[in-house]
Amino acid sequence: MMRFDVLTLFPEVFDAVLGESIIGRARKNNIIQINTINIRDFSTNKHRKVDDYPYGGGGGMVMMAQPIYDAYLSIAEKLSYKPRVIYLSPQGRVLNQQIVKELSKENHLILLCGHYEGVDERIIEEIVDDEISIGDYVLTGGELPAMVLIDSVSRLIPGVLSSEESYSQESHYEGLLEYPQYTRPYEFCNRKVPDVLMSGHHENINRWRRQQSLKRTYLKRPDLFARLSLDETDKKLLEEALKETSE
Ligand code: SAM
Repeated sequence: MMRFDVLTLFPEVFDAVLGESIIGRARKNNIIQINTINIRDFSTNKHRKVDDYPYGGGGGMVMMAQPIYDAYLSIAEKLSYKPRVIYLSPQGRVLNQQIVKELSKENHLILLCGHYEGVDERIIEEIVDDEISIGDYVLTGGELPAMVLIDSVSRLIPGVLSSEESYSQESHYEGLLEYPQYTRPYEFCNRKVPDVLMSGHHENINRWRRQQSLKRTYLKRPDLFARLSLDETDKKLLEEALKETSE
């Protein structure tokens, strides 16, 4: 079982997203466990204050170290090991499928969600092992990034998706984007499903899908494409697909 403990000021937002669908089912089946810990519950201030003005002045408020540290200790003290602590931060490594794979090997992650101007630097020095960003833009809090991380990592935990195939052909798994998908009806707005998918010929279907993946990656994400090293078969498939497009 994979365990996530989330240190947050807004625990109530998590269940709305992570209580439904595939992740909700995985939680019910005890394949993953998601606990939220309200940092405010650990404030020693009589008004349950968790933030204060920044030393040196400047705008905004900073989350104080003590409530976060005590919230962390409430988990860590019960363990015989040091769980990996991730601070969701716009200053961290930018999350991608490679990092998602790496994190899915862990059994237990503690996720720290910041707010306001962020957290007191000393809490990062004291308990944080890794900082992860979900992209080069700034959000108001770490809750959405934490949910993005939990969702993407959970999908790789065995048993969460129905079969390995569900993610092994998806975009980013092998550095390629996924081929186009179709479902019923056969015709929609005068657009028909490609003949090859109706043929029942699995070898041709796989070949077509590989070709579409290569073409899409080449056209939509030249940055990803540049990192691939294609064998002769893939090179030929792509060449053929690009020729068809230009005709
Ligand atoms: N003052 C901080 C800075 O400039 O680096 C930004 C603080 S941001 C307004 C508040 C919180 O949102 C952060 O502490 C972090 O937890 C979260 N956050 C914002 N953008 C994020 C991103 N791109 N990825 C992950 N977390 C983010």
